[in-house]
Amino acid sequence: MLKWIGLDDTDSYSGGCTTWIATRLLIDNINNVLDFPYLIRLNPEIPWKTRGNGALALKLRITDEDAELRVKDFILKNSRMEGKTSPGIIICRQKIALDFFADKTLKDIVTKRLLENALSQIQDAEIYFIDDRKRGLIGAIAAVSHQWKDYTYELIAYRSDPGNERAQNLVDVLYLDSFTSPITFLNFDREEGKPLIYPHGPDPVLFGIRGEDPNVLMASFNLISNRAQMWAVFKTNQATNEHIIPITELTFARPYTTVSLTVYLIKEPQIVRGGHVILQIKDAKGNSAEAIVYRQTVTLNRAARELMPGDKLFIWGAVRPDARSLTINIHGFRPISLVQMEYSVPKCPLCGRSMRKTNMATFECERCKTKSHAFAVIPLKRQLLEGKDYLPSPSSFKHLMKPWSRRPLQLAFKYSSKYYGSRASRS
Ligand code: ATP
Repeated sequence: MLKWIGLDDTDSYSGGCTTWIATRLLIDNINNVLDFPYLIRLNPEIPWKTRGNGALALKLRITDEDAELRVKDFILKNSRMEGKTSPGIIICRQKIALDFFADKTLKDIVTKRLLENALSQIQDAEIYFIDDRKRGLIGAIAAVSHQWKDYTYELIAYRSDPGNERAQNLVDVLYLDSFTSPITFLNFDREEGKPLIYPHGPDPVLFGIRGEDPNVLMASFNLISNRAQMWAVFKTNQATNEHIIPITELTFARPYTTVSLTVYLIKEPQIVRGGHVILQIKDAKGNSAEAIVYRQTVTLNRAARELMPGDKLFIWGAVRPDARSLTINIHGFRPISLVQMEYSVPKCPLCGRSMRKTNMATFECERCKTKSHAFAVIPLKRQLLEGKDYLPSPSSFKHLMKPWSRRPLQLAFKYSSKYYGSRASRS
């Protein structure tokens, strides 16, 4: 019998990983896997995520009720029941049609009330949770109700023992990047000389290679030397910008969401201690706010320093939960129109000295008595380009952010068991 399994919140700050549990389940049920496992990244701004706010959905053929119970027991047994961890599992026959809920989980905060409301609408599903918070169910339901629009893939490889140090091989990663990018992306930060495929936490992930084509991911996996004990290719909404809410006014920006809108720069960018850039912005209706471009975004921070008052920009970024004022943490911007001319007090054509303003629009040279009835117009040399997306350096990318190199390939790939493996199952 076909079953969808949604799961989330099985790990804690000290270890574990929901994708590891999903991969183990796939490998243990390799003849009954019916699709790629789905790794759905949810709202990156929620404060109670462990790392990347990812939830999982699996499509399996489940032979009998015992097998279903074994799946549930395996998930709970391998969950790190400590701290804030609150695992949730849903097992159902079909994907759940709760578009509003899935969308809200991706872009906003889901309250307990909304969760209960969703649960009351779900029929014909087994639902498991361990405490009254039921929090893991939010991600689990979102994963089995996610509707694909844009998608990418990630090959995640695991180490046999999370206690082992991850051996990083810079040359291998550069080699992999040179051969396979842009079909693979975010492998290496060339500016900082840093490989990006290795995580840093105590989880069992050895590395993750992200890309458009699962076959290229498998080839990349074989291209680099590695000691992966187990691996799987996930279909994912990473690198899609799917979490962004387009708004028309700053007043619609709510904390813990990521928004995009058109704004104007009011003042010169201000560089504060630490190298962060503060931008004073306003929307078309005149509502104003502050935007911050952190030093850690390197390339984006550098571009923000080139902005000038009057520039019209399309920006996207996270709304900070700051009760006192509206602040947007900028994740990227695209200049729509840049100020190209500067207006200044004219210089006297005879002596070259700056003229003096005599009334509203008349200037006069005090020495030569020459008059001018207009400001001097000086063309500006702008470093920025209209229409170009300015993005953070790859090291400061978050999972859902879309890199500029991504092409709209959208090829359909059929699931195959070649996309999962473990050393043990090969021998
Ligand atoms: P990992 O990436 O290692 O699996 P994580 O970063 O996904 O960890 P979790 O441990 O899964 O973090 O914790 C996130 C919790 O927040 C889950 O219980 C999930 O159901 C819940 N959650 C996810 N998105 C939302 C949302 N938009 N509103 C409310 N709760 C959410």
